Amino acid sequence: MPPPSSRRSVVGPPGKDGVVLPWFAPLRRTVGRWFLLALLGVLAPAAFGAPAERVVIVSLDGARPDALQRARVPVMRQLWESGAHSWTAHAVLPSVTLPNHASMVTGLLPAGHGITWNDYKPRRGTLSVPTIFSVAREAGLRVALFAGKTKFRHLVAKDTLTRFSIPGVSAREIGAAATAYYRRYRPQLLFVHFPDPDSAGHFWGWMSAAQMRALADCDAAVGRLTAAIRSAGDWERTLFLITSDHGGHGRGHGSARAVDQLIPWIAAGGAARPHTDLRVEISTCDTAATVLFALGLPLPSGCQGRPVVEALASPGDVHGVPKRSPALSQPESPGPIGGTMGSPSTRAGVVPKAFGTGPDGSGTGDCSGAAPGAARSKERVAQETGFVPRINR
Ligand SMILES: [Zn+2]
Repeated sequence: MPPPSSRRSVVGPPGKDGVVLPWFAPLRRTVGRWFLLALLGVLAPAAFGAPAERVVIVSLDGARPDALQRARVPVMRQLWESGAHSWTAHAVLPSVTLPNHASMVTGLLPAGHGITWNDYKPRRGTLSVPTIFSVAREAGLRVALFAGKTKFRHLVAKDTLTRFSIPGVSAREIGAAATAYYRRYRPQLLFVHFPDPDSAGHFWGWMSAAQMRALADCDAAVGRLTAAIRSAGDWERTLFLITSDHGGHGRGHGSARAVDQLIPWIAAGGAARPHTDLRVEISTCDTAATVLFALGLPLPSGCQGRPVVEALASPGDVHGVPKRSPALSQPESPGPIGGTMGSPSTRAGVVPKAFGTGPDGSGTGDCSGAAPGAARSKERVAQETGFVPRINR
């Protein structure tokens, strides 16, 4: 560390070369600084030339791909038909709410983000790794999360959101709050969680009439939100993602079975590639990577998700983005009620039911991020996830 005197001699006082500075020089410097900040503010909403200016994510809790296709959801149907969609995206294991939403916002498997439980445990704190929220917030974007379950508090580290709200337990309430917020503030990143399909599934059963009604309620809420985005003139530069955290069967979920693990993954809005059947493997981790890539923001180091560039209308520079594997299964039609939807697990010989959901919704066991049906050894799972699985053989 040089002495203070030598530091001064390097930097030098203003006007040291004998130049007399005009009286407005400090003002000019200040104005210049503010101009630069203002310019950055204009550019901040998205990196210049990024595939999207805004990203909105709607998570339909517990919505199986075949449930979504069977329900009366005209708004979402129009979105998946006009945009890009996959019916074979998958949850990471355990196929339960909190670990998968944590993967959606971090791009990490549960062993990486650390949220392996599935209920609200205040003493366990919040995510300590970078999230789509923290990265976007650091870039100066307006970032909001509207959710329908208290446990989402675990996903919200301090100062990572402009707005976090749990305005109710239904799509109607949560959608109304998120839409009102959008109309007023036009956030560049908005995550909206609708618990309805999961609630109906646990109470009435997956694929029940009640669950179909719950999905119709979600559809109405999506309709109001997309109308707000369109009327703000933002739709053409928006990536509007609709996905889920897991599926379900009977009155539960959590296993490696296709019915529990397969989820819809839909990209709509002007930033999405039109009329595209995404025949690549997609997991909940990839949602985080896609969001950041679309906004032109950096992926945190160690991110295990990969951007689904195939879903973007103008992906831009995809140099360095790894190629995706083909989807492991392409069910030709939705499965029967309570059925197995093509059951890749069965075909690949994977023994399901490796994970059990406890009475409090928490669980232990197989926590692999592997796709349904991907045969893997106990050692491989332990290596991938840091957990010792209990696989019934
Ligand atoms: Zn869930």
